[in-house]
Amino acid sequence: MPIADITSRDYMPREALRGLQLERLQTTVQRVYEHVPFYRRALDERQITAAQVQHLEDLCQIPFTTREDLIEQYPRGFFAVPREQILRIHASSGTKGKSKIVGYTRQDIQVWAEVCARALYCMGVRPGDTLLNAYGYGLFTGGLGLHYGAEYMDVTVIPTSVGNTQRQMTFLRDLQATALACTPSYALVIGEMAERMHLAPTDLSLQYAICGAEPWTNSLRQQIEQRLGLHAFDLYGLSEIIGPGVAVECPEGRAEALQTGNDSTRSLHIFEDHFLPEIVSPQGEPLPAGTEGELVLTTLTKEGMPLLRYRTGDLCTLETAPCSCGRTLIRMSQVKGRIDDMLIIRGINIYPSEIERILLAIPTLAPYYQIIIERQQVLDDATVEVEVTAPIQQQIGDLTSQDEQWTVHEQIQVLQNRTSQALQEATGLRFAVRVHSKEMLPRHEGKAIRVIDKR
Ligand SMILES: [Zn+2]
Repeated sequence: MPIADITSRDYMPREALRGLQLERLQTTVQRVYEHVPFYRRALDERQITAAQVQHLEDLCQIPFTTREDLIEQYPRGFFAVPREQILRIHASSGTKGKSKIVGYTRQDIQVWAEVCARALYCMGVRPGDTLLNAYGYGLFTGGLGLHYGAEYMDVTVIPTSVGNTQRQMTFLRDLQATALACTPSYALVIGEMAERMHLAPTDLSLQYAICGAEPWTNSLRQQIEQRLGLHAFDLYGLSEIIGPGVAVECPEGRAEALQTGNDSTRSLHIFEDHFLPEIVSPQGEPLPAGTEGELVLTTLTKEGMPLLRYRTGDLCTLETAPCSCGRTLIRMSQVKGRIDDMLIIRGINIYPSEIERILLAIPTLAPYYQIIIERQQVLDDATVEVEVTAPIQQQIGDLTSQDEQWTVHEQIQVLQNRTSQALQEATGLRFAVRVHSKEMLPRHEGKAIRVIDKR
């Protein structure tokens, strides 16, 4: 189907969309009841039949599916079609050494390509563009998901996958890529490489960055945009549901989030004709729009592995107000963090993304940091390690006299105190802060490891 036809679904009148969702939900409940013993048991226990799902509101009677369920049913317990109809398997890391396996039928792969194409189109990518895809190819869904989405809409793909940043940079320049897809932390590494190779944004043809798979702040977005001379968009997805392509930021939403400078205003349109979202409390109670809670998703068109009310573990809010872009699709806020990423330090709940926001508000600090938590005696000790920006590192490196170096040392001390104070004011916690004047912290090609919890 031409890209223009599938993107028209972004603008469906709400009532028609809800009708479509209900029809697809009923089919999905019937399908899993017939083919997935896990769901048959769970629905029988609650005496729910597909026929009882008469309204979308009836969804709340249906039991949840958790990550633990997926791991318990390893490897194929959730498959709803005969094994030979599964054309592709992806997997993401689980606990206890078992992966979460997902299976796709031919139609699932087609739907996945469509939603990824819609996401790219929403950002502004058009047929004829060239996408350098630096997401990992393999079991991780990032690489292949966007790859098929781009090809679906006649975008040229350069499947570099992760690694060898210098070669990525060379291809970006020589093949005049207009779009870059990778994690936000890797986009920053690529931006740094551009500076090292003395490439200005005008030496490149980049217009869009597609950044997802980890929470990132608007300050980080501004740094990526400035270094590479493009507009960076947030893309949301998870392997269990389909992979990338569950939700995407629109240009109007991006502009608004940058204008307010407030991370909580970022919003991503969910492709609701395929994924039905809800927000629930930690106890599983449905929460009204605008309230922060855990995102729960039900797949509406998956054949290979449909999931009912899957608890994503991602914290966000839902926004039902219409968007200025005209799309009628509901919006989710940026994911604030994963429920299991929440750190409890000395009894205070804190997300690594909050620490990032505070650090990036200090202009002399670079967006590379690590949070180290230890418990040597009774109480937790939290240390934040961060670097000064690359231009300052350069200036310090050029200093020769001992006097000058001593002055730098004093300035770093002042910066450490200031950072520690800012963190304490915002979180109520005292952090030991170590500011490095040289490149000391690891750079990441995939998802960044920000927290080292030694407790
Ligand atoms: Zn919009």
